[in-house]
Amino acid sequence: MPQHRIRVSEVRIGSDEERLVLEVLRSGHLAQGPVVERLEEHFRSLTGTSHAVALNSGTTALVATLQSIGIEPGDEVVTSPFTFVATLNAILQAGAVARFADIGPDFNVLPDSVDALIGPRTRALLPVHLYGQPADMTSIEEIATRHGLTIVEDAAQAVGARVGTRRVGSFGVGCFSLYATKNITSGEGGMVTTDDESLADRLRVLRNQGMRARYEYVSVGHNYRLTDLQAAVAVGQVSHLEDWTRARQRNALALTAAIEGTPGLLTPITHADREHVYHQYTLRVTDEALMTRDEAAHSLGELGIETGIYYPRAVFDYPTFREHPRVANDPCPNAHQAAGEVLSLPVHPHLEPGDLDLIIESVLKTFGT
Ligand SMILES: *Cc1c(COP(=O)(O)O)cnc(C)c1O
Repeated sequence: MPQHRIRVSEVRIGSDEERLVLEVLRSGHLAQGPVVERLEEHFRSLTGTSHAVALNSGTTALVATLQSIGIEPGDEVVTSPFTFVATLNAILQAGAVARFADIGPDFNVLPDSVDALIGPRTRALLPVHLYGQPADMTSIEEIATRHGLTIVEDAAQAVGARVGTRRVGSFGVGCFSLYATKNITSGEGGMVTTDDESLADRLRVLRNQGMRARYEYVSVGHNYRLTDLQAAVAVGQVSHLEDWTRARQRNALALTAAIEGTPGLLTPITHADREHVYHQYTLRVTDEALMTRDEAAHSLGELGIETGIYYPRAVFDYPTFREHPRVANDPCPNAHQAAGEVLSLPVHPHLEPGDLDLIIESVLKTFGT
């Protein structure tokens, strides 16, 4: 039996987080308060945007954003078919129709495929920066400008990622998640970043029961608030983000250097002008491999390496969505193929010395070289 299982994701909570949470507990101010504001300040500087609004999850960040940009029944939102279900759920919660642009070899939407879906009912483009790799925001921004559309970025997996000198979350309305497995976490939590002051104001009102001041109801609202307890955890995590991102990138580089060229395996595609923050390090296991993707996942598991399949099917490829009147059946052959091929290896920043060697050795052994 292997000494220890190498997990595909791992959370580290340090003494900073403990101290900050204890301060909140002792302050008696547990609900949304000054520590949430501190976290928002961090996200403004992380993204270079002028406003950040904390919400209680990445999903509610997406829902509140779509609600705040004025989606109306019948409006269409163009997104990726290769994403976590939260992206699609948010579109449906907001009352919009979901349309799907196919993905390219980097697992993100193809701008040409996005462009081809735009029609009179299109209201927003919702690219996903999958696995921490930014989508082609330069082209998507150009398309959005040409058609007068709003960009909502699902940046749940990509905090800190960059296109050129611009951070994700600054191209459109940025939606981040602080869920337990994301690159930084508060357990549950979300954040919206934007340069649009009036949108930020609508989001703040919406998250707090439609109140601008206490008992001054200016719109229908919700309770989407984050607590200071959760924000305290995330504030502690932010101070590690840069080091952790560098570690993820170093690990990814080492994996690619060792695995590249193995028959039947394709390593992640990178782009010269885009910074990938490796929320996941995802291989493709093709037909040329000695075993299937699922057999490989099993074999690596036996060797003590936990892997992940994100995601086993295109997001709309389930009966509940196939039968849904607001989920379009757009052809996405690349997404279906990717769903059968993807396999994520541990890349997280808490891998111990020797873990990478073990992962590489096990991958090479499994794929027979
Ligand atoms: C995690 C995730 C979300 C949702 O975030 P939660 O904080 O879990 O609600 C949305 N989109 C993608 C791509 C995600 O990975």
